[in-house]
Amino acid sequence: MNRSEFIRLTSLGVLGTGFLSSDLFAFTNFSGKDFGSDFKWGVATAAFQNEGGWLEDGKGISIWDSFSLKKGTIKDNTNAQVSCDFYHRYKEDIQIAKKLNLKVFRFSVSWSRILPVGTGHVNKEGINFYNRVINECINNNIEPWITCYHWDLPQALEDKGGWTNREIVKWFGDYCEVLALNFGDRVKHWMVLNEPLAFTGVGYMWGIHAPGKRGFKNFYPAIHHAALAQAEGGRTLKKFISDSKIGTTFSCSPIHAKNSSIKHIQAAKRLDALFNRLFIEPAAGMGYPVDDLPALKRLKPYILPGDDEMLKFNFDFIGIQNYFRVVARSLKVFPMVHAYQIPPKKRNVPTTNMNTEIFPFGMYEMLRQFNQYGFNEIYVTENGTPGNDLLINGEVDDQHRINYLNAYLENVLKAKNEGIPVKGYFVWTFMDNFEWAEGYKPRMGLVYVDFETQQRIIKKSGYWFANFIK
Ligand code: BGC
Repeated sequence: MNRSEFIRLTSLGVLGTGFLSSDLFAFTNFSGKDFGSDFKWGVATAAFQNEGGWLEDGKGISIWDSFSLKKGTIKDNTNAQVSCDFYHRYKEDIQIAKKLNLKVFRFSVSWSRILPVGTGHVNKEGINFYNRVINECINNNIEPWITCYHWDLPQALEDKGGWTNREIVKWFGDYCEVLALNFGDRVKHWMVLNEPLAFTGVGYMWGIHAPGKRGFKNFYPAIHHAALAQAEGGRTLKKFISDSKIGTTFSCSPIHAKNSSIKHIQAAKRLDALFNRLFIEPAAGMGYPVDDLPALKRLKPYILPGDDEMLKFNFDFIGIQNYFRVVARSLKVFPMVHAYQIPPKKRNVPTTNMNTEIFPFGMYEMLRQFNQYGFNEIYVTENGTPGNDLLINGEVDDQHRINYLNAYLENVLKAKNEGIPVKGYFVWTFMDNFEWAEGYKPRMGLVYVDFETQQRIIKKSGYWFANFIK
């Protein structure tokens, strides 16, 4: 498909609303069976958010270890040194996953548990830990799917500039090689990066996430190096595990203009280029979406001859991760995108306790938009909602989450029934965990964790999901 044709299709998706908030929870009667017997149902987790064991068995420090120890970085002043202690409790947790009828367990590997200083010395104990997790999954008929990078860069690499240093492409490729050689005999589904826009934008532009860097001088090189690493990781994994399926994941949100005035529509287009197109288009061989987001010209100093080729990789699948919608209006003073995201509160729409809009139809829009790149398989590798879930008399009644998941799943099914090759859906997340800079307050799991006792209690939504996918 040529670029002009593509952009036309995209903007249609961007501007359609087609959804009334009164329809929000208008369920049709459907269940997991309607998705077909080969549909993959799972949960997604991440090493830093779940494992704990932060200094155990030779693990090195990651940027999130150090960042969360700095005053004022985490809303509730907590850290993830223990978190839900998956490092010690993986067996019990995988039994819970089995009880929930899950077919896929998506988890990430902590780079600094494998390579404590990011390169060179391989920590055998780290390899052993993930071998135990992988084997436990397989012995319980659950497929282990690995994310190579879910934001916890070894601190030693950050000390050399982290994602702003072009050397990271090589460091990351070498790390992927270690993963492939150690786990590739049993793990056949890989996701190279988790949401590159999130860790470059929130970590290197806004400084709200680790490593807490700010400004365009960090953001632009981080973007280009993450895009190169995305393809490099894919090539490396494929080279060493030829019978594997290699994917990567993207955060995405439908971007709707405030109204049909041209300036707001153009603002929406710029945000769409940043939020939804920045990392997938170079991988798909289309280059960066500079035409719709001219600020991306500032990537130029970091792009070397031959990079256009190096950015490409033919992924076997892509993962999309959609939680909310963005409504845009033009705002000149706002740097880079000259657009402003109108907060849900000002729009009088239903929101989660993290102030993000609940907009299930957006899942359908995103599946349709991302399907235009022509990848053979699409997975929803994350979707879910936070809540102030309470344990009362031994039970957690999170009906809000059942409503949310049901409504989003209905839109996944709609896309699937229209022929979009969506092959699986993973809830974010398995159990309550460390929600980055938000700390432990937004509980997002199907399973409640009492962080004092480490007791696990399956929430009402967990039982509901287990039954839905049975
Ligand atoms: C991330 C997760 C995070 C979730 C909820 C996603 O962007 O991949 O790590 O916990 O959103 O905020």
